[in-house]
Amino acid sequence: MLSLLLPVMELLSAVWGNVKGILLSIKTFSFFYWLKTFKAQKISPQSRIGAGDSTKVVPTSVNYHFTRQCNYKCGFCFHTAKTSFVLPLEEAKKGLTMLKAAGMEKINFSGGEPFLQERGHFVGKLVQFCKQDLQLPSISIVSNGSMITEKWFKLYGEYLDILAVSCDSFDEEVNKSIGRGQGKKNHVENLLKIRKWCRDYNVAFKINSVINCYNVNEDMNKEITMLNPIRWKVFQCLIIDGENSGEEALRQAETFVITDNEFTSFLDRHRNVKCLVPESNKQMRDSYLILDEYMRFLDCRNGRKDPSKSILDVGVENAIKFSGFDEKMFFKRGGKYVWSKADLRLEW
Ligand code: SF4
Repeated sequence: MLSLLLPVMELLSAVWGNVKGILLSIKTFSFFYWLKTFKAQKISPQSRIGAGDSTKVVPTSVNYHFTRQCNYKCGFCFHTAKTSFVLPLEEAKKGLTMLKAAGMEKINFSGGEPFLQERGHFVGKLVQFCKQDLQLPSISIVSNGSMITEKWFKLYGEYLDILAVSCDSFDEEVNKSIGRGQGKKNHVENLLKIRKWCRDYNVAFKINSVINCYNVNEDMNKEITMLNPIRWKVFQCLIIDGENSGEEALRQAETFVITDNEFTSFLDRHRNVKCLVPESNKQMRDSYLILDEYMRFLDCRNGRKDPSKSILDVGVENAIKFSGFDEKMFFKRGGKYVWSKADLRLEW
């Protein structure tokens, strides 16, 4: 009897060994599959909402042009004072909270001139809200710099990551020809003052320049190197129908336009400036998520700004479908960079 049982037990033990091996293989395979999926989700959380839906764009980085009013008269301006509307503060905060819930990480406040509204307190309160309440990693402002005071930095500087000031020339006469200026204010002197305040109050300093027919031959190497911004954004003057071109537009910028070759030669002249980030017309057009004063996304794909419905009326997900946003171009032009001052080494 025993001699009969022994071979049966050996057979059963061999089968069990194989089953264990198969189970172990399944377990190992499942783990690696899970790890691979998890890693894929972690690498690009900002690019899509939810697995399997490739059409939903997350508003990772948003530009909120909350006002169209400005004290300057730049001839090429492509966000002109077509309305004087500004959302009440609480409504604006509500919209920003919705954007945060939809995945926003960076907000840029722009205009018009953001410091015109309530002498800078409106934008200051939004900046404070976005950092303290929404805890956004990056908050920036683009301004012409003419209305910023040291008092503003004392009140709100700690909540701001980056301040970008527009400067197209270091020759005051050129700035005047462009329309960058108001009365006796000296644009370049102002820029130097703001540069110092950014250093004193630990805000990263950035410069934006629009290259047009008046400054295309200028050599800015010395001044930009001296100012040492974290980024120098260099834009090619852009035509937007209804803003700076066409019958209903408040500006006619055709005479400011430069060719692609002229833009390239400007970039070439400044190739040794490490912080230079160029943006041609093509890169600019569809790679920004732009919200206007009513919190409507603006679609620039057809060379004009076609608005969606307001996110306050239809929600972020519905409005963003009409934004014309080209996410690939956003990443290609370096739209995602180190944008929180906590991660920047601010060495002055
Ligand atoms: S400072 Fe900016 S918003 Fe104001 S007119 Fe010039 S380009 Fe337009």
